[in-house]
Amino acid sequence: MAAIAFIGLGNMGGGMAANLAKAGHQVRAFDLSAPALAAAQEAGCTPCSTVADAVTGADVVVTMLPNGAIVGDVIENQVIGTAPAGALLIDCSTIDVATARRLAEVASAAGHPIVDAPVSGGIAAARGGTLTFMVGGTDAAFAAAEPILAAMGKAVIHAGAAGAGQAAKICNNMLLGATMVATCESFRLAERLGLDLQTFYDIASKASGQSWSMTSYCPVPGVGPQTPADNGYQGGFATALMLKDLRLAMGAAEEAGAPVPMGHLAEKLYAAFAADGHAGQDFSAIIKTL
Ligand code: NAD
Repeated sequence: MAAIAFIGLGNMGGGMAANLAKAGHQVRAFDLSAPALAAAQEAGCTPCSTVADAVTGADVVVTMLPNGAIVGDVIENQVIGTAPAGALLIDCSTIDVATARRLAEVASAAGHPIVDAPVSGGIAAARGGTLTFMVGGTDAAFAAAEPILAAMGKAVIHAGAAGAGQAAKICNNMLLGATMVATCESFRLAERLGLDLQTFYDIASKASGQSWSMTSYCPVPGVGPQTPADNGYQGGFATALMLKDLRLAMGAAEEAGAPVPMGHLAEKLYAAFAADGHAGQDFSAIIKTL
């Protein structure tokens, strides 16, 4: 069992740190929020008063933080130089590919193996230990990170070199955003054309229009499986987080010179929806604008 420092105990990190403790690891936890720290203590982690306190003596440092600027500050200014030489760094936050690659260079130069390991799956999967991890890093760093990540998830996939985990995550979520909008407008058109929506679902879910957005996350209440649409679009994956991921994808596409017209339109539609006061609603609620 490892000595693990866990930084960032929010909606996602709280459940993940708890699962590491449950698996028998010694988890030293830090967050700027006192209630988050208290919850981690209740879940079997040792609360720490600073990042430095948490990473002292750690074999592994896991970060689960809001964005690339914060991850960069924590890893470059607070972890490196304080964590023991050779400690493995695992960043599970969703951040931009360029920052992930830069941090990999900085950490490697300081002698720390590092992986970017963003997750698919929401708060329930973080609590239940059923996340999917997409991992970027060297073969050796992946091999070291895999058993730690396996204690928090159902699948751990090596996507490639440093930054590849973030690249996989934002490409996946750009696809998700675009297919959700396409699913919503198809159901709206079906309705206008007089189709019964459950009947349209039964047809399209077995035909070439099928997608995860339809069959696992149908945006129409009362159609398909139980989804946030059946709960007033509460819970699920917030519009603000979808917009964050689409913006990361647009930044990466611009840097890579890749044309992404559908992704760009999805980003514009989600930006308008969030600005209209719906940032906290599930992202499938965008059907209400169509
Ligand atoms: P959150 O806002 O609930 O948690 C972030 C935590 O980081 C907060 O508790 C905050 O106090 C803490 N924090 C901020 N700055 C800090 C610092 N300098 N030092 C220590 N702690 C600090 O966010 P979340 O929903 O847990 O998301 C975390 C990451 O996971 C994000 O990158 C997000 O994009 C990604 N993600 C979230 C979901 C989801 O469904 N919520 C799904 C997949 C990926």
